[in-house]
Amino acid sequence: MVEVISTDGLIGWGETARSRTAPSFWPKSQTELDALAGELAGLLKDQDLLDIEPLVDRLWAAGLPHTIVAGVEMALWDMKGKAAGMPLYHLLGGLYRQQVPLAACLGILPPEEAAKVAVGYVEQGFSTMKMKAGRNAGHDLASVKAIRQAVGPALELRIDANQAYTPLEALRLCRKLEEFDLQYFEQPCRQDMVEELAQLRQKTRTPIALNESCRTPLDMLRIARLEAADCVLPDTHLSGGIIQVKRIAAIAEAAGIPMAMHCGHDLGAKTAAMAHLVASIRGFRYASDTTIHSLEADLLVEPLRIVQGSVEVPHGPGLGIEVDRAQLQRYNTM
Ligand SMILES: [Mg+2]
Repeated sequence: MVEVISTDGLIGWGETARSRTAPSFWPKSQTELDALAGELAGLLKDQDLLDIEPLVDRLWAAGLPHTIVAGVEMALWDMKGKAAGMPLYHLLGGLYRQQVPLAACLGILPPEEAAKVAVGYVEQGFSTMKMKAGRNAGHDLASVKAIRQAVGPALELRIDANQAYTPLEALRLCRKLEEFDLQYFEQPCRQDMVEELAQLRQKTRTPIALNESCRTPLDMLRIARLEAADCVLPDTHLSGGIIQVKRIAAIAEAAGIPMAMHCGHDLGAKTAAMAHLVASIRGFRYASDTTIHSLEADLLVEPLRIVQGSVEVPHGPGLGIEVDRAQLQRYNTM
């Protein structure tokens, strides 16, 4: 969590996540955290905090990694919304959707258990479920089969292998999955194998989605040129923030590639940011990944409203949330 306080007393909150996809600096002790906070404060000092894009360029130029830039940038957007008395979605272009459909995310479980969880998600009103995959192709196939048998077509089903398979392994699995009508198979192969993924897409009817391969606008341009994806899943902490996701989204929209927002075990503030992004960008056609429904607690005073598998976009200024400082203290491990 990042808190930015201006000399006028305005406060902005941001959230980011550690990224295993693209390892980058992450503070490991209070001393490292204090040093980072000091560096960031130095870069923001005497600047107009409403000039978010130039300020973000300043953070990139200082060599800060995408995970850190993303957290600070989100806090600046929250602050700007509060300064303007406007919700973030108004600053980003305006409201396309009041409710943002969610894809309930699930880890790797034995197939029967995964099927039981899927039935529970249908009962809670979710339209879409995402299941982690990639440990073993036989297991992935058995799980998809068990889930389809349990819920029929009631759920859009997507799986995410997090780069686990070789192109040949992925092709074999994709072909076997065709009869189960997946919404898509996310990141079956390594993130740098965009050409191989484009070829895979030509050889199977299982739609291919890219997440780790789609971190920057340039990545997105390459994916579009190679026609490598049926869907892309950007995320603020992977890309370096809301502006980067907007840039990726502009290219994806121009290329006619639908999008879904990805999540990183978000704790409330980042979920709110996701809702504002999806609410204000036309091309987010598919449900947004989330794990928020399965948390014991989030970090918000008022939890986000999730009704029938959709989160309501907060209408308060900025992110439209209030961070619960007691909870933050409780979970602070440094
Ligand atoms: Mg993913």
